[in-house]
Amino acid sequence: MIIVMAPSASKKDITSVIARIKELGYTPHPIHGTTRTVIGAIGDERGKAVLQSIEPMPGVEQVVPILKPYKLASREIKSERSIIKVAPGITIGGTQLLVMAGPCSVESEAQMIETAYAVKAAGAQVLRGGAFKPRTSPYAFQGHGEKGLKILRKAGEAAKMPVVTEVMNTEEVNLVADYADIIQIGARNVQNFALLKKAGKSKRPILLKRGMMTTINETLMSAEYCLSEGSRNVILCERGIRTFEDATRNTLDISAVPVFHERTHLPVIVDPSHGTGHAQYVQPMALASVAAGADGLMIEVHPTPEKAWSDGPQSLDFAKFAELMKALSPFIAAAGKTL
Ligand code: PEP
Ligand code: MN
Repeated sequence: MIIVMAPSASKKDITSVIARIKELGYTPHPIHGTTRTVIGAIGDERGKAVLQSIEPMPGVEQVVPILKPYKLASREIKSERSIIKVAPGITIGGTQLLVMAGPCSVESEAQMIETAYAVKAAGAQVLRGGAFKPRTSPYAFQGHGEKGLKILRKAGEAAKMPVVTEVMNTEEVNLVADYADIIQIGARNVQNFALLKKAGKSKRPILLKRGMMTTINETLMSAEYCLSEGSRNVILCERGIRTFEDATRNTLDISAVPVFHERTHLPVIVDPSHGTGHAQYVQPMALASVAAGADGLMIEVHPTPEKAWSDGPQSLDFAKFAELMKALSPFIAAAGKTL
């Protein structure tokens, strides 16, 4: 249910409503808008009619049900887009187009530092690199773990860039959050509900990738797991879904961008690297993503893609990444955004 407070509601009115929601066994999620506060009362769907009893309380304008199954992620509870602060001066969801770039895996300090400076010089604001890698084969490189997190952080600090990296286990959420500015939940873990809940308790923004077999609504339900644990900062990422087409690694569903934007206030980025699986398709799909209204991009970049320990074929070298950023410029301007 949404408790819509009147624009004139006092702080005391809001506190009393929050206390009443708790008494009724629901969790209050206040959202302070520019003109009014709305309070989501989230909990068991079955008994929610009791929340109607809040309507006569002082300062309450209306109590309305949220019709969508995802509640806190919906536009019903928050009509304006969410702008998430990633680091001082770096936001996503507003007019800044956020570009996250870096290698698939953190391999060495030299590789990360070199990449950080190169992607920053080309215009990327956030450095990526995997320390815990979800690999199809147990015999493939699994990532450097905490050592990789340390290298990523060091490279980010050297180039003065916030960093994003994946977390795969509930036990490692706090560890990853100690090193990363954004914690990534990968496509394979999109319905790992224990992980979503644990990440939702973290103060760090969460980059949630759409699964290769999850619908848009299922992805929003996964975001809801994080939001229902208290997080306000979930960024969605379209990274391709599995279809019968095998010319590309996945089928990048760019139509997910406007659909997500219609259904949720959360920012949406696109990852054309995993979406296509081939370096030569990354640039055109990056341009298309921005044209479709994406709030950001995630691009895999490696100093020598042919030598990469993972995802070399889809990684851009520094020159190709710089070229992509240059080609992106008129698209960013046309979308009314800046880097
Ligand atoms: C990654 O970002 O390196 C990754 C493993 O992505 P995905 O979860 O989208 O496959
Ligand atoms: Mn990868």
